[in-house]
Amino acid sequence: MSLHKHTPRIVTRTHELRLALKGVREGGRTIGFVPTMGALHEGHLSLVRAARAECDTVVVSIYVNPTQFGQGEDFDRYPRDLDADTQRLSDIGVDWVFAPTDTEVYPPGFDTWVQPGKMAASWEGKCRPGHFRGVATVVLKLFSMVGPDRAYFGEKDYQQLLVIRRMVSDFNLPLTICPHPTVREPDGLAMSSRNAYLSPEHRRQARVLSQSLFWASEQVASGEQSAEKLVTGMRQIIAKAPDAAIDYVAIVDPDTLVPVSTVTTPVQSLLAVRIGGVRLIDNARLIPSASP
Ligand code: AMP
Repeated sequence: MSLHKHTPRIVTRTHELRLALKGVREGGRTIGFVPTMGALHEGHLSLVRAARAECDTVVVSIYVNPTQFGQGEDFDRYPRDLDADTQRLSDIGVDWVFAPTDTEVYPPGFDTWVQPGKMAASWEGKCRPGHFRGVATVVLKLFSMVGPDRAYFGEKDYQQLLVIRRMVSDFNLPLTICPHPTVREPDGLAMSSRNAYLSPEHRRQARVLSQSLFWASEQVASGEQSAEKLVTGMRQIIAKAPDAAIDYVAIVDPDTLVPVSTVTTPVQSLLAVRIGGVRLIDNARLIPSASP
């Protein structure tokens, strides 16, 4: 077990990281990995703490992956502050921060992509064409660069979690995916690096996202079975925010993401809403009281 509470060592090159981790692997010690795009908040840190608790060596990657952003999205203005992020990680005792450059990840001539299938076609995949191709490609590359035993992902990005799980299974990748619950602000808003884009007024309006999910959760727990009624009620709650524009609100099967019409077993509610031009996503598991 490595010493806790130290400043992580920062590496930018894959060969340096591989060399550093060689001894760990050969000594039979486990590697926990948390891929991020930086601008770290408590949601990320909860994943890092889980990795710290469960693995001998912890690697956090910080890389804003250009290929998962579409034209006109926020790639250029995405917050980047490696020093502040590294500082946050030193309190937890992360061993390595892997912060590759664009040419390290996508060297000249790079020409091989992971194309996820059905799991990536709906919801986020439909609203952000090419997004999951970029995500799956970079995550496969990062797995190959780091070689983790366990990789930690947030349920906040629910569809992403399923897309990654599918890829790990389809490609026989020798690692375990460890999902962790969404960390929320005290008023319910799911933590996200993109919350920083919200004006104070839009930050206030953004509460309707989690309010709609909590309402749906209560409705299902007290016997509501109609997905149509749930979606209508959720849309009404979101519409209370004057600057909210809904991309989608859905009640789906938690494994396939296919919409359900009658809620008799646990389902997932997914939503994407733009508030004053800032696009936010959230989701929750809705569990009928009589379900196992
Ligand atoms: P990102 O930096 O946005 O790519 O996120 C990196 C990881 O942190 C992903 O696995 C996300 O699902 C996870 N994550 C982001 N926000 C939260 C949150 N509020 N709670 C838990 N995990 C989160």
